[in-house]
Amino acid sequence: MRIDILTLFPEMFTPLSTSIIGRARDSGKLEIVITDIRSYTENKHNKCDDTPFGGGAGMVMMAQPIASAVEAVDPNHEALRIFTSPKGKVFSQSLVKELATKDRILLLCGHYEGVDQRVLDLYFDTEISIGDYVLTGGELPAMVITDAVSRYIDGVISSESLESESFSDGKLEYPQYTKPREFKGLTVPEVLLSGNHAEIAKWRKEQSELITKKQRPDLIKDEQ
Ligand code: SAM
Repeated sequence: MRIDILTLFPEMFTPLSTSIIGRARDSGKLEIVITDIRSYTENKHNKCDDTPFGGGAGMVMMAQPIASAVEAVDPNHEALRIFTSPKGKVFSQSLVKELATKDRILLLCGHYEGVDQRVLDLYFDTEISIGDYVLTGGELPAMVITDAVSRYIDGVISSESLESESFSDGKLEYPQYTKPREFKGLTVPEVLLSGNHAEIAKWRKEQSELITKKQRPDLIKDEQ
């Protein structure tokens, strides 16, 4: 899978070179291409933003540099083009799975007050929000989307992990424990040490239901 990220701040993306995502890139399962929008400006000062028509606070990212960058990295519109925006569809695990079926996605990171609407109307397919709050820029949302989608690329994470984790069956995951058996007076639930796989599966299912009811009753309601 290839993920293009268009940004004014390419230096913010070093986390995508570490850990599981870094290994996925090194193995060739995942290609991430970061493009600096500023290098596509056609004005002599490399200006990428200007004041909003109609007045108001802040600056708006100009259409031309973004349009030129999109045309350069995705000339045949092969990627699903996504604008990261608080006004977009709220990101969820079902959307993660849907995006992971694509060969290519392209993420535009807005900044300042946002982006000239005309470049969105002309070049972009959809908008995604990572939650009902406003961040300074789309760089963190682009990293969130990239990380979540990358986990679903074949071979990046074991399929067993994906099957039993939170949201996979509409519920939250059961509690996890590792060595030592006792930590500061707290012991590991006996059933997990029993070696009885049927009992362990039963306990985990019950725990998963209890935690979901307590922390996210809306997930249970949504199921009904
Ligand atoms: N003026 C915009 C509004 O009220 O909707 C907010 C602009 S925000 C300060 C700058 C950029 O950060 C946005 O264009 C978007 O790319 C990104 N952004 C901020 N919050 C986001 C969120 N919750 N999800 C996705 N992107 C977000």
